[in-house]
Amino acid sequence: MLDRLQPQSPDALLALIKLYAADDRSDKIDLGVGVYRTNDGDTPVFAAIKQAEQKLVEEQDSKSYLGPEGDLGFVHALMPYIFGKDATKGGRIEGMQTPGGTGAVRLAVAVAKQAGVHTVHMGVPSWPNHAQILNDVDIAFTPFDHANADGTANVDAVLDVIRNAQDGDAVLLHGCCHNPTGIDYSNADWEAIAEALAGSAALPILDIAYQGLGHGMDEDAYGIRKVLDAVPEALIAYSCDKNFGMYRDRVGALYVMAQTSDQLPPVLSNLNALARASWSMPPDHGAAAVRLILRDSDMTQVWLDELETMRNRMREVRDALAKAGDVGSLDLRPLGQQNGLFSVLPLSKDQIQALRGDHGIYMAGSGRINIAGLHMGNIEKFIGALEAVTG
Ligand code: PMP
Repeated sequence: MLDRLQPQSPDALLALIKLYAADDRSDKIDLGVGVYRTNDGDTPVFAAIKQAEQKLVEEQDSKSYLGPEGDLGFVHALMPYIFGKDATKGGRIEGMQTPGGTGAVRLAVAVAKQAGVHTVHMGVPSWPNHAQILNDVDIAFTPFDHANADGTANVDAVLDVIRNAQDGDAVLLHGCCHNPTGIDYSNADWEAIAEALAGSAALPILDIAYQGLGHGMDEDAYGIRKVLDAVPEALIAYSCDKNFGMYRDRVGALYVMAQTSDQLPPVLSNLNALARASWSMPPDHGAAAVRLILRDSDMTQVWLDELETMRNRMREVRDALAKAGDVGSLDLRPLGQQNGLFSVLPLSKDQIQALRGDHGIYMAGSGRINIAGLHMGNIEKFIGALEAVTG
């Protein structure tokens, strides 16, 4: 029977990693895979995580099962960072740990479907796995344009979708540091989105996978907090894999805000059932380490300082790109206004191929670049190569 299966296309970014590894040019540049890199091109374990892991080795006395909701100490410790001072909104928000933000998005979409959502509206381009998850959960996906040609967010498109939504519609929004475009809604845009959602039938699904990598932990939560202040209910998918550098340890959480605290338990019981049928319970280690950090003010400060260093480095790269201004046929100025790990350059397939073949610069076929793949030592080469292939 297994011979009936058709091969699936391989993950394009994983293929790119292999090509990059096989390239023996010493000045090659990897702008493909979506992880933070230091000036030296490394993706180190955070010092705060090392401290927490050390503490775990010394203090953890059991690895017995926890349950589908995972480490609730972790889930609750994160909440003030995400939701602000009134972190439970009077007992209306509760969450559960998930295997990464991917697990959280998957659960959000699956429980939305059980609640009667049949269509998810989403700005495109988006993280490619969004569409794959929607497809796998068998829920219709209606795209709208996320960005304007000038590198700003197309707020009219999302407002239009929200205002015309019917019962059974959901809208999936990136909380900050949009993947792949880096184009976020402004605070004024979020205010308009929140107001529109307040009078809309659409269920908000908020995906926040890069909090702290844009302008700061509170600044990056402005949009989701505005929305949650305005709407009766929402699902919030969260990832700690970037802002704690835990990628392979799969640290995430899904939160639900219900209309009343009485309505939380049935939603949570559905989430528990879905989690049990999918992964039973999430991996413990990374979430336990994050819990230890967030419960210790010294370790929290170490983590926040590391996050600030990352954020400042990426801002420095963005500023340098923006300063280059017109490069060949490209205008790099908008990159200075964008946030997080990614931006998209409007390059043709041939130009992307020439950057790889002639200059050893590797990026996704969509033109998405990982800003953290650049640093003051290779940015001039990058700008020169862009000039050469687009000029
Ligand atoms: N949402 C978005 C928008 C993402 O970009 C990502 C990761 N690339 C995720 C969710 C999932 O993150 P994780 O690695 O924690 O599964």
